Amino acid sequence: MNYKDTLKINEKGHLEIGGCDTVDLVKKYSTPLYVMDESYIRNVCRAYTKTIKKVYGYGDCAYASKAFCCAAIYTVMQEEGMHVDVVSGGEIYTALKAGFDLKNAHFHGNNKYESELDLAISNGIGTIVVDNLDEIDMIDKICDKYNVKQNVLIRSNPGVEAHTHEYIQTTRIDSKFGFSFKNGDCLEAIKKVIASKNLVFKGLHCHIGSQIFDKNAFALAVDVMTDYIKKLQVEENIIVDEINLGGGYAVYYTESDPKYNVEQYCEYVETIADALQKAVDSKNIKKPYLMIEPGRSIVGEAGITLYSVGNIKDIKGVKKYLAIDGGMYDNIRPALYDAKYEAILANRANDKNEEIVTIAGKCCESGDIIIKDIELPKANRGDIVAVFTTGAYCYSMASNYNRNVLPPVIFVNNGKSGYAVKPQTYEDLVRNDIIKVEME
Ligand SMILES: *Cc1c(COP(=O)(O)O)cnc(C)c1O
Repeated sequence: MNYKDTLKINEKGHLEIGGCDTVDLVKKYSTPLYVMDESYIRNVCRAYTKTIKKVYGYGDCAYASKAFCCAAIYTVMQEEGMHVDVVSGGEIYTALKAGFDLKNAHFHGNNKYESELDLAISNGIGTIVVDNLDEIDMIDKICDKYNVKQNVLIRSNPGVEAHTHEYIQTTRIDSKFGFSFKNGDCLEAIKKVIASKNLVFKGLHCHIGSQIFDKNAFALAVDVMTDYIKKLQVEENIIVDEINLGGGYAVYYTESDPKYNVEQYCEYVETIADALQKAVDSKNIKKPYLMIEPGRSIVGEAGITLYSVGNIKDIKGVKKYLAIDGGMYDNIRPALYDAKYEAILANRANDKNEEIVTIAGKCCESGDIIIKDIELPKANRGDIVAVFTTGAYCYSMASNYNRNVLPPVIFVNNGKSGYAVKPQTYEDLVRNDIIKVEME
């Protein structure tokens, strides 16, 4: 467990988050329940922005909102002076609902619909990250309609691939995302943007992976990107004003991961900012505006999920299952990626571990296991299970599988709590259903 100032065990032996006793939260909001520590989120945002300003002096941090998306998170980001990255019309719509100023948003995606681009451009999106040639024509046309110019970055594929503990520099050019440097595709895209009527070429983007532990992977990406920027400057007389180096910083999930505090998260940003400044100096390129766009590391460790223990199935000598009132519909990551989590009994947090159990969800899928073989105190029906580090890619990937209603999301901060997303109702589930289909 990566306990922190705002995530700890209190004197009653209960798990406490954001100054709120989780047992009280369950009394008030019931289970299953997503709990997000708002102060932690704000602290990470502030620290990232501060680090960029301190080390590099010219840049901003965007929150990759796909990690956890709802109106309230955009409100927080707006208040913190953060930029955001959006990847769909739905995310854009949610940001607009929250009053987020889209000029501080950039729009990603490998297949943005014309309708989504229209929504983005008509609402003054700051930047569009272009991922393919067709998109350039579409953007140009929509800009004509609204008589505007549009800043764009080109999503590049620098051939640096990083996944969790390993990173490699490949010559692979077969990614679904981005334009490769190697085969000239990136240059072709840049030239097409420059030749277009309404698109303004601002610079380059790359995102080398997710849950990356090794900071050197980011330094390598900076090196490859700035080599290319230099080449553009010298050989093509094309100046890059902005560089966006994506997200992907790893967070703590289980004991095999390093424990992070906010300062340690900032080391990723420091590495990037420092490597970029050094490259600018040594390669003699125009200093680009720096953007980063982490998601997981901003919200991941801020979130926990609270469940109640329901049925307990003891297959004597084989396995003991604790079934909880949630599962793959609120956290798909164990089933999807074999993701590992830690958990405790939140109402008996100081009790000694006595047995090894498997925490199973309630969905009709054998693979609906939240944690396999975890040591816990002997649990009883009604005990509260807290699963840690569920702030990223859990709520945002949730579904109504088995027609389960989505749990609410609450924010906690300094002893107070409130809904960020209200509980779904059964009525919500059938809202768009047609009872008997009328054919014509
Ligand atoms: C997913 C994604 C991010 C955020 O990644 P994290 O691992 O959550 O930090 C940033 N940029 C792009 C383009 C992405 O696809």
